[in-house]
Amino acid sequence: MRTTFGFREECGIFGIHHHPEASNIVYLGLYGLQHRGQESAGIVSTDGRSMYSERRMGYVADGFDREKLNELAGSGAIGHVRYSTKGGSSMKNAQPVVISCWRGTLALSHNGTLVNAVDLRRDLERKGSIFQTTTDSEVIMHLIAKADDAQLVDALATALKQIKGAYSLLVLTNDLLIGVRDPHGFRPLVLGELDRSPVLASETCALDLIGAKFIREVNPGEMLVINREGQKSFYPVPSERKAFCIFELVYFARPDSIVFGQSVYAVRKEMGRQLAAEHPADVDMVVPVPDSGIGAALGFAEAGGIPFEMGLIRNHYIGRTFIEPRQSIRDFGVKIKLNPVRAILEGKRVVVVDDSIVRGTTSRKLVRMFRVAGAREVHVRISSPPTIGTCCYGIDTPNPEELIANRKNVEQIREFIEADSLGYLSVEGLLKSSGSNPSNYCTACFSMQYPIQVESTLDCQPSLFEK
Ligand code: AMP
Repeated sequence: MRTTFGFREECGIFGIHHHPEASNIVYLGLYGLQHRGQESAGIVSTDGRSMYSERRMGYVADGFDREKLNELAGSGAIGHVRYSTKGGSSMKNAQPVVISCWRGTLALSHNGTLVNAVDLRRDLERKGSIFQTTTDSEVIMHLIAKADDAQLVDALATALKQIKGAYSLLVLTNDLLIGVRDPHGFRPLVLGELDRSPVLASETCALDLIGAKFIREVNPGEMLVINREGQKSFYPVPSERKAFCIFELVYFARPDSIVFGQSVYAVRKEMGRQLAAEHPADVDMVVPVPDSGIGAALGFAEAGGIPFEMGLIRNHYIGRTFIEPRQSIRDFGVKIKLNPVRAILEGKRVVVVDDSIVRGTTSRKLVRMFRVAGAREVHVRISSPPTIGTCCYGIDTPNPEELIANRKNVEQIREFIEADSLGYLSVEGLLKSSGSNPSNYCTACFSMQYPIQVESTLDCQPSLFEK
């Protein structure tokens, strides 16, 4: 049996150094990153002598109260929100990971997925390392602990030279906060400033929330070391071709963030305009699937000169539902989240815009809901290309055989989702909308062009690594 790894690590990370209210600030920052992970939330702080840690399953709001935050003493802190995964979902995999070793106590928050974690872990285990979690993030900690270098910064550099894949990292010690972005730059990481204290966050929307100023992105390959005296940049690993995750712009990041130097909102709108040019629709209204389709739908409506209507309303208060009736209420899962507005849809020709189709079940349920609500024609437009590749770099995508576009062509998918027509944005159109050099993006989920080769994309799936 192969070793267990909770491999699908969609996450948000946040850290601050030298601030009197460090853990409070991190707590608020994590609120701004909640969309990046809802399974668990954690904060580790330091007062320069000791580290304090609190990790909880569930939302940020559910895991912490004033008392807990008071216990997270000190002027340095990092936090983490983790996305729900199928296999590796448990408390022990919640982050930040904290270890004590001969170097002292270290905490780590990781966003991304390492592609060589299985090999590294096997090697480390053979040499006697004992793992506490099933995350690839712990591999990094063992590599740091094992390195011969006298200084932590050099030990981290030694570890970085051995890992491959997607990683934006925050490392906290009793006197340092370090931010690292992998040389491909798969996942975002930005530097901000609050009351002269440096802040690191996955997205700028978290900086906005705490009133911090956005300074710059951490560069691909950069290791930014922050202490009381200031900041220093190192580039410990050779530079690589850039591979910014295009799916951050399509779906994952919040539209009010600047990601990879681009306004996510503006890019999504442009994707919608491009989609309208590639697949126009002769309809009465454009309706987004909220929230993921709103930006693209606005662009589609604008480009096509078609009225934009919120014909589908999202319930924002559902939290997590555990009860799903098997037979009694059809399409319960979608209905609890989204409900069509019959009054505006009745008798109308509608184009529904969403960001992606993965298994096809959401689109199919939505098309049916629109028809039940009286829509005369239901056309579907998707602001990204067909999803054909499993992500090996940190976005939760199912096995290749579960991706509908791997089994069916566009016409067959249209038939499956029961739409009157279906159009996807092309890879070229997507890259054109992205606002910067197209060769700087990873499009593996849409093109199967994997910037870092893995033996098999099946290796990206957690199920294979379950004990
Ligand atoms: P499906 O029903 O499997 O086709 O899922 C499509 C829906 O899932 C779309 O509305 C997307 O916005 C959303 N989606 C796409 N990728 C992800 C992801 N990695 N995590 C969560 N939701 C996603």
